[in-house]
Amino acid sequence: DLAERLDTDYYAVFADIPAADRDVWNRAKAFVDGLGDRMQRAWDAAEYPLDLAMSLGAHDLFNDGIEHPDLTFFSPLAAGLVNMEISRGDGSLGTVVAVQGGLALRTLAAYGSAEQQARWLSPLARGEVPGAFALTEPDHGSDSVGLATTARREGDEWVLDGAKKWIGNGASGGVTFVWARVDDPDAPEHDAVRCFLVEQSVPGYTGTVIGGKASLRGIHQALITLDGVRLPADAVLPGARSFKDASRVLYATRSGVAWSALGHATACYEAALSYAQQRTQFGKPLARFQMVQERLAQMLEELTAMQLYCRHLADLERSGGLRPTQASLAKYHNTRAARRIAQTARDLLGGNGILIEYGVMTHMADIEAIHTYEGTESIQALLIGRDITGMSAFA
Ligand code: FAD
Repeated sequence: DLAERLDTDYYAVFADIPAADRDVWNRAKAFVDGLGDRMQRAWDAAEYPLDLAMSLGAHDLFNDGIEHPDLTFFSPLAAGLVNMEISRGDGSLGTVVAVQGGLALRTLAAYGSAEQQARWLSPLARGEVPGAFALTEPDHGSDSVGLATTARREGDEWVLDGAKKWIGNGASGGVTFVWARVDDPDAPEHDAVRCFLVEQSVPGYTGTVIGGKASLRGIHQALITLDGVRLPADAVLPGARSFKDASRVLYATRSGVAWSALGHATACYEAALSYAQQRTQFGKPLARFQMVQERLAQMLEELTAMQLYCRHLADLERSGGLRPTQASLAKYHNTRAARRIAQTARDLLGGNGILIEYGVMTHMADIEAIHTYEGTESIQALLIGRDITGMSAFA
C-alpha cells in the first residue's frame, strides 16, 4: 500500500489520504511504474514519446485539481500526488502533466467560452489533442509581464505577430493558448493582454523543437514564431482580460512544481538508500559508515520538510485559503531542497551516479528545469519578499 511506504514517508504525512485521492494516486503509480526503461531511452535519445505522454489522458491523469462541471474532479491533494508520483517515475512525463493539465486545460477551463470548451475541453483532458501554453518569449522570461507578441484586429479577424520560447507541446500538432498584447489605447499596460486559442496547423504558426537540452530530454519544448497568424474573432478567450489572468494560472501550477520536486527527490533518496545498502566498500555496505548514515538522515530531513509543505499546501488550497506567495514559498523550498537531495544521491552512487541507467543523474538534470520554470528561484524570492515587506524589488 502506497500510504504505508514509510521508508520515504517517515512522518506518515500521506498515511491518511482519503480513499478517492488514493485511487487517483494509485492510478498515477500504475501508469508510470514499468515505464522507467522506456523513458530513460527517450531521455537518452532526446525523443518525445507523444502517444505515450498523451495516454496519461486516457488514464484521467490530466485534471490537476481543476474544478469544472465537464471534468472529473480531483482534489488539490490528488492533483499533487499525481504530480509527485509521475515525476518520481519520470520528469519529462511529470512536465507533460504540468503543461497539458496544469497550464493548457486550466487556461481553457478558467477563461474559455462555452463554445471553445465544448470543442476542446474533453479532447485536451483525454489527451486526444496536445495542449500548449505560450507566455514566455525569447526576450521576456522572468519579465513575461513585458510580453511583446501582438494581436491586432482586422475586420472580423485577429492577426498575431511575435515569438514564444520554451513552449511545451508547442510543436506537437495540437492547440496553443497564446498570450498576446492587444492594441487598446484605453487599457492600462497590463490590462491589454489577452489569450488566444491557436490551432498549430494554422498558416503563419511555426513551432521548432528546441534541441540540445540537457534536462527533460523526453519532452519537446518549442520556439514558436507567429507571422501574421489570422484567427477568427472568436479565437480570443473571453474570460482572460489581463496579464493577471495569466499569472493566476501560474499561481496554481507552482503548487504542482513543488509536488513534482518532491517526486524527483523521493526517487533520488530511494536510489541512494538502496545503493548504500547494497554496495560494499572496505568490506562493509556503504550504509554501515557513519558519514553515509548522516547524509541519508540529512536527505530524509529535507524530504520530510518537502512532504509537509506539499500536504499543507493541498489543505490550504482545498479550504480556498491558499495565497499565491504561499505556493511560491513551497516551490522555492522544494526545488532548492530537491537539488540538494539529488546532488547528495548522485554522490552516494559514486561513478555509477553519472550513468543514465541509475536514474539519479536524469532526475538531477530534470530538477534544473523545474527549478527554473513557473518562475525562477530569484523570482519566487522577489514575490515572497514583496509580500512580506510590502515593497517590490523586481526592477
Ligand atoms: P531570465 O528571465 O532571463 O532569467 C535569467 C536569470 O536572471 C535567472 O536566474 C533569474 O532568476 C534572474 N533574474 C531575472 N530577473 C531578475 C530580477 N529582477 N532580480 C534577480 N534575478 C533576476 N514558458 C511558457 O510560457 N510555457 C511553457 O510551457 C514553458 N515550459 C518551459 C519548459 C522548460 C524546460 C523551461 C526551461 C522553461 C519553460 N518555460 C515555459 C519558460 C520559463 O517559465 C522561463 O524559462 C522562466 O520564467 C525564466 O525565464 P528565462 O529563461 O527567460 O530566464
